[in-house]
Amino acid sequence: MEFEPVIGLEVHAQLKTRTKIFCGCSTAFGAPPNTHVCPVCLGLPGVLPVLNREVLSFSIRMALATGCRINRESRFARKNYFYPDLPKGYQISQYERPIAEHGRITIETAEAGTATVGITRIHMEEDAGKLVHDPDRPVSRVDLNRTGVPLIEIVSEPDLRSPEQAGAYLRKLRAVVRYLEICDGNLEEGSFRCDANVSLRPRGTAAFGTRAEIKNLNSFRNVERALHYEIERQRERLLDGETVVQETRLWDPDKNRTFSMRGKEEAHDYRYFPDPDLLPVVIDTEWIEAIRAALPELPDARQNRYVRELGLSAEDAGRLAAARETGDYFEAGLEVFSQPKPLANWILGDLAAHLNAAGKDIEEAPVTPSQLGRLLQLIDEGTISGKIAKSVFERMAATGQDPDVIVEAQGLRQMSDTSELEAVIDRILAEAPDEVAAFRNGKTKLMGFFVGQVMKATRGKANPRKVNAILTEKLGA
Ligand code: ADP
Ligand code: MG
Ligand code: ZN
Repeated sequence: MEFEPVIGLEVHAQLKTRTKIFCGCSTAFGAPPNTHVCPVCLGLPGVLPVLNREVLSFSIRMALATGCRINRESRFARKNYFYPDLPKGYQISQYERPIAEHGRITIETAEAGTATVGITRIHMEEDAGKLVHDPDRPVSRVDLNRTGVPLIEIVSEPDLRSPEQAGAYLRKLRAVVRYLEICDGNLEEGSFRCDANVSLRPRGTAAFGTRAEIKNLNSFRNVERALHYEIERQRERLLDGETVVQETRLWDPDKNRTFSMRGKEEAHDYRYFPDPDLLPVVIDTEWIEAIRAALPELPDARQNRYVRELGLSAEDAGRLAAARETGDYFEAGLEVFSQPKPLANWILGDLAAHLNAAGKDIEEAPVTPSQLGRLLQLIDEGTISGKIAKSVFERMAATGQDPDVIVEAQGLRQMSDTSELEAVIDRILAEAPDEVAAFRNGKTKLMGFFVGQVMKATRGKANPRKVNAILTEKLGA
């Protein structure tokens, strides 16, 4: 029997506000433990939380960017559970009336093409603290700097059908929060976290199977690997006539497998109820419209613009638009060199390869967009050949120098002067009388040999177009 995977993701994105969701404490990462705390985020008795307005405006941005319907009135609820890093004994979240519902995101994969993934809901909540386990002694400590840091949870519909689609959805979602500048999208540091729900059903049937939820996925690679593993695990169970149990599983990246964390029988009853300390959140339409008007261009729109207005392929445009910084780099380069295609090739080719090897992001690129634009100008003007440009680029990346400086210092200017080239070519022809004779007798493949000799003699600097023209004339080809 053939099975079809059904996947839905729950993503927690930490909002980049300066202060916490219900108090004025700093959200800065990496401070000494328990220094960014106050009676509110410590959950001491008698305090009252006050909603940070920026949390709301960031959530509205995300809701608009994903085409959600925004609830003009939403509510905070208490989600009750006990955990050492949760000092109040409950987490303030949203439940029955989240800030936004019914949105969508478009994804693209090689195997399934373009697909729309529904967003069930987006809600606001506070983060919990962190347990720090002592590696040497059986002791755990609690750091409450993170309690009250704002999160939005984005819950997808079970619309994804493969690990690759799940990866594409996550990447797109991350691109959107980064374009919106509401979250830094850092999976490793935990500011963008994903839980993956997956089940199988016989292909062609409508009802969903029983799902497992996988936690502890801190990279795109792990999300895809964990889903592949889990799909295989469930498939084997079903083929053996066993059932899949609804449970929470953890991904172990070292052992390359998922394992059971807790089953349904231990599932929490969160006893949600409206938080009596917080008023309903009422948003006026004018504010929503002002936020909408200030939204930046988003990745899909940018990709379409590159295709429509600049004539790039959908693939190149998509790669350039995937990260805001890459698109910005490309557009800054266009200011200096206005031909989109070669510029895109260099950014997605040589520059991307260099950054990848150096483990750097494009913001840290040693070659600025205008330096790269200038390099392409030098090729376009015929000052250097495309081949020489590759080595000039390497030098630029290593030293940060301008291309003109490198070209001058290393004497790399292309030789385009006809009489200079003729002198070189005359000498080479005089030194190879046998080849010249063979060429004239019809062995025209020898053209490559002559061009090669000229390039060797000029250390690659001869203008190939001119070399060909002169050779053709002199050999009477
Ligand atoms: P919970 O809050 O208990 O995790 P939800 O109903 O909110 O449950 O679902 C959480 C996520 O699980 C959503 O992203 C949803 O799309 C996904 N999901 C629900 N049912 C299934 C299923 N049968 N198979 C795969 N994913 C599912
Ligand atoms: Mg869940
Ligand atoms: Zn505080």
